[in-house]
Amino acid sequence: MKKIVLFAFLIALIHTSFAQTSDDSWQSMYRASAPKINDIVHTKLDVKFDYGKAYMYGKEWITLKPHFYPTDSLTLDAKGMDIKEVSIMKGVSKSSLKYTYDSLQLRINLGRTYKAGESYTIYIDYTSKPNERKTHGSAAITDDKGLYFINPKGDDKDKPVQIWTQGETEANSVWMPTIDKPDQKSTEEIYMTVPAKYVTLSNGLLISQKKNTDGTRTDYWKMDLPHAPYLFFMGVGDYSIIKDSYKGKEVAYYVDKKYAPYARGIFGHTPEMIGFYEKILGVPFQWAKYDQIVGKDYVSGAMENTTATLHQESAYQNARELVDGNSWETVIAHELFHQWFGDLVTCESWSNITVNESMADYSQTLWTEYKYGKDAGDEENNKGLTEYLSSPDDDKKNLVRFYYADKEDVFDLVSYQKGGRVLNMLRNYVGDSAFFKALNLYLVTNKFKNGESHQMRLAFEEVTGQDMNWYWNQWYFGNGHPKLNIDYNYDDKAGIAQVIVSQTQESGKIFKLPIAIDVYTGAKAVRSKVWINDKVDTFTFNYTTRPDLINVDADKILLCEKTDNKTSANFIHQYKYAPKYIDRKEALDYFEKQGMKELSLGLKDKYAPLRKSTINALAASKFATDDEVVKSIEELAGKEKDKKTLAAALTFLSKINDNKYLPLFNKYVNDSSYSVSGAALAGLATLQPDKAYDLAKKYSVDAKGTLGDVVTEIFTANGSEGDYDFVADRYKNAPPGQDKYDMTGPFCEYLAKIKDETKIKQGIDYIIQFSKQIPEQYRTFTDPAIKGSLDKISKAKGDGIADYISKSWK
Ligand SMILES: [Zn+2]
Repeated sequence: MKKIVLFAFLIALIHTSFAQTSDDSWQSMYRASAPKINDIVHTKLDVKFDYGKAYMYGKEWITLKPHFYPTDSLTLDAKGMDIKEVSIMKGVSKSSLKYTYDSLQLRINLGRTYKAGESYTIYIDYTSKPNERKTHGSAAITDDKGLYFINPKGDDKDKPVQIWTQGETEANSVWMPTIDKPDQKSTEEIYMTVPAKYVTLSNGLLISQKKNTDGTRTDYWKMDLPHAPYLFFMGVGDYSIIKDSYKGKEVAYYVDKKYAPYARGIFGHTPEMIGFYEKILGVPFQWAKYDQIVGKDYVSGAMENTTATLHQESAYQNARELVDGNSWETVIAHELFHQWFGDLVTCESWSNITVNESMADYSQTLWTEYKYGKDAGDEENNKGLTEYLSSPDDDKKNLVRFYYADKEDVFDLVSYQKGGRVLNMLRNYVGDSAFFKALNLYLVTNKFKNGESHQMRLAFEEVTGQDMNWYWNQWYFGNGHPKLNIDYNYDDKAGIAQVIVSQTQESGKIFKLPIAIDVYTGAKAVRSKVWINDKVDTFTFNYTTRPDLINVDADKILLCEKTDNKTSANFIHQYKYAPKYIDRKEALDYFEKQGMKELSLGLKDKYAPLRKSTINALAASKFATDDEVVKSIEELAGKEKDKKTLAAALTFLSKINDNKYLPLFNKYVNDSSYSVSGAALAGLATLQPDKAYDLAKKYSVDAKGTLGDVVTEIFTANGSEGDYDFVADRYKNAPPGQDKYDMTGPFCEYLAKIKDETKIKQGIDYIIQFSKQIPEQYRTFTDPAIKGSLDKISKAKGDGIADYISKSWK
């Protein structure tokens, strides 16, 4: 699964502003793996949907056998259902069984004792009612419904009618009685009866389709290979299916008709990704096909249902958005990697989610490195590190988590971002060939079964011949990360350099860290491999000429926070001669912080994102109007191929407010990239506001991303009544997250300028609706800020509107 952080900025704000009043009661809640009394062997379902009631009528034939000890009973998870019949199959006939049901679990008396290996099939006739489930209180459950009916009656003309399911963690038992635990595996057949105008998607292969006389069609999906219950999936809707293939297997993309022309632009790397992952893992893609589908109002980022990955709508990008780079590509890579790590070998319990999620997180780095080069891979890796470090509370959590309050809690920055970096260090330590051979051994040994972190360790020990307990104890079964202080002493007389590395983390835990240190004389580096073992370690190097740079952690793999007390000259040398993305980034960050003009070295960096971040850093620095810097950026703007970097350059130049840039802005204002076009339009807006307004009008029919932002800014500044639809729709349609929160102030500013009361009130409604969608924990920040913006409308418009706001605000 891939979760999307909607309120990234606010989360950071909360972490930095408040000492957490943390509830540590989870620390005593041990989470054992689910005991196996009966094992599911096969699940056969026959389902029909009632769109009017948002019910699903199901018939299930579930085949099980006792795991080891004989048993005369079976407990199935079955959440919020109506159970009509429970029988045992005897050949083709049924014999009813005694059972009790408490709306969560179905306890069945099997009538006699079954021995290990003796299989039996239970028949259940039931109705699934996902929208009528209640929590312990009376509130309806919204986040683990399992089965989602989207706009089922078609009331909302702007919304497609869809059905999709979301199983992880234990929600598929809302629509099928099962043992809803990750340590179960079952083969699967589903007969789905749906209105004939829709297409369906499920796990495995579509074997047959049968038209019924009542306007419905029954699709028969079959999955011959066993997988865990949380990976079962059904999707129904009015989709276009775009088909690719990989080695003869179907690779298809289920998208809204509107996005059919762009489906290959979004998902088209999938076959190449399958080939890449097969190659590095040495394990062929095991499943019959690989499809991806996009769900309206999907509750998470994306989900790796076996052979049927579900994505949220952020996957949708049109051709112009794709020109700026596919923002969803790493999610596609992440979910695909789960088809091995998660689906083929499944975490034995949620405590061991690292064997699914850390792997999938790290796969984003692997794919990016393979496809776009080492710098891009290192940037992706570093993004994960930065995200983990932004959440200081996560310092307390072990990667393998036997203690937690709620099973959903393990889907966090530790299991994903930190775990991914732990794998990156491991790869560096054992070397590429051992790393991938160990992953191969883990997969081959445990395929179609479960794995826990120890099995991963055993695979690495077998391949490398090394004891790896120290690594697993430190990183998987322990918490935190090192905080390093690095000092340098040079004794030119004696020709001795000292590197002193101190571990300053408050926990007192001391980390063992194998690293490389490169000692540079000119462009030449001599490498030493050393271990950091103690609270303070001193490494000594002899020299005849004082080194230009001693580069600690030369491969830049450490998961740590550090204060590296190098000199400015060292950092300049590092930028010029140390080869890694992080080497250059660290140096540029240092120049920025110190206000050094060497920052402009980054304008010529070989990696576009570093050129881009350099331009942005220069724009905010005292060099924003420096002649040389401006000239360099003018030159860059003349030849830059990377669209986002070009956009940054145009934005930089637009702040200079000089008519000589008019030809440049006019050249790019029609660019296919929304970023470039938007940046050029912003440039015109200061120099030729009337022309910019006319262009904003013209472009408003197709303005997303930066271009949409700039058009909105121009319309807001102008305050014309006629632009209401664009400004209001853009606000209304923004997903309820950080960006929308940031749009709220300017939207109020616009509403304060227009006259039509109906429009003003509608705009206010949109804002208040959004304010109520913000998760409770952020409301102490967001409520006063949003109310403050609304008050500006009251002030401008008088008592009528003020009353309307105060009434609606409640
Ligand atoms: Zn995932």
